[in-house]
Amino acid sequence: MTDGFEFCDALGPTKIIHIYEPEIKLRGILVVDNTAAGPAIGGLRMATDVSVTECFRLARAMTLKNAAAGLPHGGGKSVLYGNPKIPIEEKEHLIRAFSQALRGNRDYIFGPDMGTNEVCMAWIRDEIGASVGLPREIGGIPLDEIGATGWGLYHAARIAVDHFDFDLQGARVVVQGFGAVGKHAARFLTDAGAILVAASDSQGMISKPQGLSFHELAAHKEGGHSVRTFTDGQADAADKIIDIECDIWIPAARPDVINEHNVDRLNTKIMIQGANIPCTASAEERLHERGILVIPDFIANAGGVICAAMEYQGSTQSTALRAIEEKITHNVEEVLALAQQQNLRPRQAATQMAEKRVRNAMTYRRFSSFSNAPNFL
Ligand code: NAD
Repeated sequence: MTDGFEFCDALGPTKIIHIYEPEIKLRGILVVDNTAAGPAIGGLRMATDVSVTECFRLARAMTLKNAAAGLPHGGGKSVLYGNPKIPIEEKEHLIRAFSQALRGNRDYIFGPDMGTNEVCMAWIRDEIGASVGLPREIGGIPLDEIGATGWGLYHAARIAVDHFDFDLQGARVVVQGFGAVGKHAARFLTDAGAILVAASDSQGMISKPQGLSFHELAAHKEGGHSVRTFTDGQADAADKIIDIECDIWIPAARPDVINEHNVDRLNTKIMIQGANIPCTASAEERLHERGILVIPDFIANAGGVICAAMEYQGSTQSTALRAIEEKITHNVEEVLALAQQQNLRPRQAATQMAEKRVRNAMTYRRFSSFSNAPNFL
């Protein structure tokens, strides 16, 4: 195991805590990366193969994502070692014990992540009161059900098309991964007049150049079937979705789906990244060389975390949706303007924007090296 200090830099991490209770087989880690903008929000991941390094990387990604989203929250992450599919009573026991062990930390708010869900967040809320992504009955806004991230992707697409000579009305859209993120992105885009020419899931893909019926396809999927068995379209293997000609291609499935072996097959003008890190670095660079506009993941897919932060403030669902619209519209505009002015890739511009916001927030801290203010200590 790493000692946790080799990745310390000017932003953090401010705190790394290891919890170990051998009697009850509890082992977990909390990394609070940076809290200059406010208490850190980040997911609790439960998996058998997590590490301090992974936890730190995820915490840093949350620092930048929350800052890029303009939220009054820093970044953190927690991991619990174990199989998330253990019997529910054992899982509840572990998660309650883990949150109790961390109860003194007022600078971290738990959210759901791989291996945890809204029920786990309710247990933590019951123990220590510091979690988001709760069930509706106790003040939660069910972000996957309302399509918070898809709503943000739609607004990112709305701004991105302004840089091209076509409108959303009639734009041909492809969605890889017709799940919580991809399905709602397709819903909002088709509501705005876009044409869904192809969609996929892990079993396969379905395409139709004249446009798939979103509502019929969503009903088919909700009935427990793969999009591949939808009859009003041409079915094919999942990977074939990369070749479908379109205006907007939305990855909403897995990391690294676009890499140096398949990037040149993409036939789109815009990529709006719904999944986290859907392209390898070299593939994303290749997209830029080809003139394809990429709206990076942590700018485009921040709808979920914005929704969670609004839930934490006690906001209603409609206020949360308005905040997502306003923040993602503003951030995509700012990133594209900065990229244009300074001849940067959108991802570089987004990282620069987020880091600047974190550093600005850090100027208000007692031990700030970024501050220009007189030292009163
Ligand atoms: P989900 O499980 O609801 O949906 C994922 C979909 O992708 C499923 O339909 C699955 O069948 C499909 N899929 C898996 N492998 C595939 C493949 N090889 N080809 C095509 N489809 C494939 O998950 P989700 O919540 O929609 O999340 C999707 C991605 O977006 C993940 O990378 C997640 O980390 C990221 N993300 C989610 C949110 C959110 O609010 N849920 C927010 C930010 C980022």
